[in-house]
Amino acid sequence: MTSQAEAAPSSLSALAEDERLLRDSVREFAVAKIRPLAREMDEHAQMSRPLIDELFALGVMGIEIPESFGGSGARFFHAVLVVEELSRVDPSVGVLVDVQNTLVINALLRWGSPDLKTRILPKLASKSIGAYALSEAESGSDAFALQTRARESGDGFSISGRKLWITNAYEAEFFIVFATVNPDAGYRGITAFIVERGMKGFTVGKKEDKLGIRASSTCELLLEDCHVPRANVLGEIGKGYKVAIETLNEGRIGIGAQMLGLAAGALDYAVKYTKERKQFGKAISEFQGVQFQLARAATDVEAARLLVYNAARLRDEGKPFLTEAAMCKIFASEVAERTASLAVNLYGGYGFVKDYPVEKLYRDAKIGQIYEGTSNLQLQTIAKNILS
Ligand SMILES: Cc1cc2nc3c(=O)[nH]c(=O)nc-3n(C[C@H](O)[C@H](O)[C@H](O)COP(=O)(O)OP(=O)(O)OC[C@H]3O[C@@H](n4cnc5c(N)ncnc54)[C@H](O)[C@@H]3O)c2cc1C
Repeated sequence: MTSQAEAAPSSLSALAEDERLLRDSVREFAVAKIRPLAREMDEHAQMSRPLIDELFALGVMGIEIPESFGGSGARFFHAVLVVEELSRVDPSVGVLVDVQNTLVINALLRWGSPDLKTRILPKLASKSIGAYALSEAESGSDAFALQTRARESGDGFSISGRKLWITNAYEAEFFIVFATVNPDAGYRGITAFIVERGMKGFTVGKKEDKLGIRASSTCELLLEDCHVPRANVLGEIGKGYKVAIETLNEGRIGIGAQMLGLAAGALDYAVKYTKERKQFGKAISEFQGVQFQLARAATDVEAARLLVYNAARLRDEGKPFLTEAAMCKIFASEVAERTASLAVNLYGGYGFVKDYPVEKLYRDAKIGQIYEGTSNLQLQTIAKNILS
């Protein structure tokens, strides 16, 4: 060791003062404002608009938007902390905030023209929700096989096609829509557009009735000769595949955070309940069999947190993070499913009914293995890296 040896980096889960303050304030908000609404929002499959307004007031709807545009001027890691804390209480609220920040705002910050940024970012920071529309009925994992067509027309493009499974669509005002300007060019024809609610030829269609994250809206989008001005092209024409790949690579860290929060929330419930519930004359947490199950779940949650935080920190440091992002998403989503399932088991019969919160977390966990790249697609990314 030389005297000039660099200080060793701190632990992965150590938080800076501003990060800790943000985490604590969002945790407090989630318990006070979201928890009382979570069951009703799930039952009615409807996100509360007053709650959305409070999320804006809290400053978590424009986390990376510069302060000059009315945002919080923070980093991606802050968004990850926010999504984790919200999802600990309600993963539906977690994904609303996640899509807004890690996909929509992220893409606009990186690819938006000065005009788009000036026009849209202040709205996204203060009152408007964004959605990200890539998937179609025939193109999910194979996203670049999309069929939505954009044809040059006058001062812009005329877009026709259908998008499926679009998160936040029911509430959103701005939609990043991926379409091809040239189907013969394959992925090199794909272009990203900002479609605005109210544009002629654009309709938000059927809202899906889902197993989990029911309060998060998931809708079809219909575009019939929808005229979009050239100024609403996001990035370059024919470079939409880059917009999609780069945002989704980062977005999946957000889903890792959502699933981490869910797992941590389920574990909190399981610990509390097992200390209260008595069988055979003592709290069930006193049985070693139960203790070992909780210990394993706590280890899982800690490992998921390290993977998620590491991927987010790498991203903020501008270092390669692709493999780590895929690992954090697949692992955290599996941990979420396992931990929520354990919580249901430990609640016994009460775990199976809607009067208690854990059955909802169990249903909410499943989506983590499906959206923003299914688990098989994450494995493909990891395998490609380790075999290259
Ligand atoms: C609630 C919800 C919200 C969503 N939100 C959005 C959104 O906001 N924006 C958006 O654009 N999309 C969204 N999606 C779509 C989501 O990203 C897709 O559902 C997902 O990418 C999977 O596509 P798919 O449903 O077509 O399944 P498919 O691609 O048909 O996959 C079916 C199965 O085949 C497997 N598979 C496919 N290809 C391979 C392969 N090469 N190797 C091994 N296995 C493979 C998959 O892993 C999966 O198990 C959402 C979906 C849901 C359910």
